[in-house]
Amino acid sequence: MKSILPLLAIAIGFNLNAQQINLDSLIGTKKTVLFEGIIPASVTHGYESKAKLWQSVIAEGKHYYEAKYKNITVNAKLAVLDSAHWTSEVVSYGYTFATQGWIVLPADIDFNDFVRIYGDISSKDEFLREAKIKGIKPDEIAESVFSVICIHELGHLIMTQMINDEFSDVLFNELAANIVAYEFFKNNKPELLKGFELFYNFHLNNYKPFYTTLNELYDNMGKMSVANYDWYESKFMKLVEEIYNYKEVDFLTSLKNICMESKDKNLGIKEIAILLDKDYKGLITTWLSKNNW
Ligand SMILES: [Zn+2]
Repeated sequence: MKSILPLLAIAIGFNLNAQQINLDSLIGTKKTVLFEGIIPASVTHGYESKAKLWQSVIAEGKHYYEAKYKNITVNAKLAVLDSAHWTSEVVSYGYTFATQGWIVLPADIDFNDFVRIYGDISSKDEFLREAKIKGIKPDEIAESVFSVICIHELGHLIMTQMINDEFSDVLFNELAANIVAYEFFKNNKPELLKGFELFYNFHLNNYKPFYTTLNELYDNMGKMSVANYDWYESKFMKLVEEIYNYKEVDFLTSLKNICMESKDKNLGIKEIAILLDKDYKGLITTWLSKNNW
């Protein structure tokens, strides 16, 4: 395997290449099985059942958000490719991403690969012990995390299709895609969220990060260890929980409104938080400062 880049990290650098490559023709050159459907899927042979689960999760996500926001149509195609067929022209193996209407996921990552790539291998046994206490099987953890990633990536596509001129900040878009995913699973498939919740809470409570501040994250994104990056993602999930639980505001509606009002699309996460907080009554900026971010 090549160098592995962070989980849930669509836009950090890789898509400089992706923007120049036509994914329709690139994925068309791979030897895949095609599943027709609401979400057409191109799949490396051998991973059909996994791809069918992901395909159905994405189709449900599409239905949920199209019903919620009556004026949007969400277009998405899925590619599930094993490491031999990976689109190394675009991105290193292990990455997941959404661009040009495609959601691209790695096919051959089992639980052990998952812990090695995204987690902290030195605490694997402890992680497994905690999973057992909570009644979650190792395979269910990877299944849960990749299902969440499916809707996270769909979230990027929804935002692109719903909001004409988005904020460019990478971190903010990661946060927003996680909110889209979290809401979908809380409201529709809470059982399938459990493995992911276990993962980010465990990682946050057990991993000792080298970088801890928001500025360090901006400065070292793409250079830091995957485990350290995932510590930030895990911490952001605690903010995602709070934003989700604040039911007075609908996140994507609020985001769409501030995007339309704001002329500067290069704002950072703290500045966007100030804009969102007119609706959220200070929740997001308070959370950031409480965590010294
Ligand atoms: Zn992302």
